[in-house]
Amino acid sequence: MSQPNPEADDRREDGPADLLLVNGAVYTVDAARRWAQAVAVRAGRIVAVGSDDDVAALRGAASEVVDLAGRMVVPGFQDAHVHPVAAGVDLLRCSLYDVDGAEAYVAAVRAYADAHPDEAWILGGGWAMDAFAGGTPSARLLDEAVPDRPAFLPNRDGHSAWVNSAALRLAGVTRDTPDPDDGRIERTSDGEPQGTLHEGAQSLVQRLVPEPTAEQQLEGLLEGQRRLHALGITAWQDAIVDVDGEFGNLDAYLAAGADGTPTGGGVGAVWWDRPPGVGPVGDLVERRARGPAGRFRPTSVKIMQDGVCENFTAAVLEPYLDDQGRPTRGTGISFVDPEVLREAVRRLDALGFQVHFHALAERAVREALDAVEAARRANGASDGRHHLAHIQVVHPDDLPRFRELGAAANAQPLWAAHEAQMDELTIPFLGEPRWTWQYPFRSLVRHGAMLAMGSDWAVSSADPLEEIHVAVNRRMPEGYPYRVDTHEVFLPDERLDLATALAAFTIGSAYVNHLDAQTGSIEEGKLADLAVIDRNVFAAPPDEISAATVQLTYVEGERVYAAPDA
Ligand SMILES: [Zn+2]
Repeated sequence: MSQPNPEADDRREDGPADLLLVNGAVYTVDAARRWAQAVAVRAGRIVAVGSDDDVAALRGAASEVVDLAGRMVVPGFQDAHVHPVAAGVDLLRCSLYDVDGAEAYVAAVRAYADAHPDEAWILGGGWAMDAFAGGTPSARLLDEAVPDRPAFLPNRDGHSAWVNSAALRLAGVTRDTPDPDDGRIERTSDGEPQGTLHEGAQSLVQRLVPEPTAEQQLEGLLEGQRRLHALGITAWQDAIVDVDGEFGNLDAYLAAGADGTPTGGGVGAVWWDRPPGVGPVGDLVERRARGPAGRFRPTSVKIMQDGVCENFTAAVLEPYLDDQGRPTRGTGISFVDPEVLREAVRRLDALGFQVHFHALAERAVREALDAVEAARRANGASDGRHHLAHIQVVHPDDLPRFRELGAAANAQPLWAAHEAQMDELTIPFLGEPRWTWQYPFRSLVRHGAMLAMGSDWAVSSADPLEEIHVAVNRRMPEGYPYRVDTHEVFLPDERLDLATALAAFTIGSAYVNHLDAQTGSIEEGKLADLAVIDRNVFAAPPDEISAATVQLTYVEGERVYAAPDA
């Protein structure tokens, strides 16, 4: 990880620092995981790391000096799988992310509709399944809030949408409408559409929803970025970048990147449209060629290989169980035929793309690893740094393959805990021993895998300290707005130590983003992407990690966030 620094010549070679962070607990995440007391920054780069005395000579009349008073400095967090533009667009609409419970959802939607009488649709979303019996809210309930216009509100994982009667009417969805191949219309006992649409059935209504305008996408990006900076995140990988539709955010990134401010992203994973067969890849090459813009590069390709466990669309090797514990016939969906996947990854790898897989259950994980193996065999070693996101269920036989193939594990650790969705909607249907193969982070590290982390925001909280909390404790943080019936540790052998989890969310994700030569650790010559945390999380008990908060965030030495009490 010590590529030469191509921009080193640009930096002012001497003179006083622009910024000095002193009297702190600086956790460098360098190879030796050293601690320091102070950091000096000049022209956007780190020019000294050491004790207060070591940096004193760099103090000039114009230097900004921040007395950390013992607070902790870490490299800026990097989120390796996040949807900040979609989240930002939703936050600017009818946002239910910070609302809790069915009644509160209805009240929030009504308040939004009343405040926006001119909007033709009520859009937004972010409700949690466990607020409703069976995870399926009804159109009738939503009609109480929005009787006059169509409403389309996806839940926080985006796999189901809540619609009202006006939306069902407009879309012509009736008791006679068949379920599409890739989804399901939730129905009442007498066969009427009930108001929740799952997976592909969402598009029955979604195809009528006006797409966000270019202006809304850019506003969404800036709002999403503002929220990420407030959590100490200084770069990320947008897990779906596209040119149109809900995720039509490529132009927004290019515009934000071109305007010269040192924010606006990291890497974009350009959506692979699942053509029949491998199909042409010219579109992907063309999209990549439109970057880089500022800190943004559309150099990754997103391939979604399966769905999620809760609705049995994640691809498993042995059938799911039914609610009596008997095997069903369902083994989920491989969205891409494995042979096509191998060929696609071989070609993308040869073209120098990174492949970012959505690979959630054990068959999808195996198919993705097989595809990377095929690329290695055909093309030899590459620096693609292909990575598998989600990795909820990994067959033990596949654990060593991550290292062997140089495929990174991209973990979303907030999901690795007992809560209602896990205990009621997942474990019983995976069965023994498969449910114990979930989120095997420690095992992956033990087998030498490169571990990156991300949030999948807005599916889950974007807060890295909450993610790291669960990675270390394998329990939800106290007071978390999920229904938690047991505080038992979830598969305790898979707990990570704090240093490993912090490394995953910094240098590990920087590796996946091909940014590790420039960022991901606090070392002389690297970009001054830094976060100041209100306490040293190593000094507190592990079950208090999530109580820590970010107070200052710097991107290339520029302050992009300051907490009110910083
Ligand atoms: Zn995602």
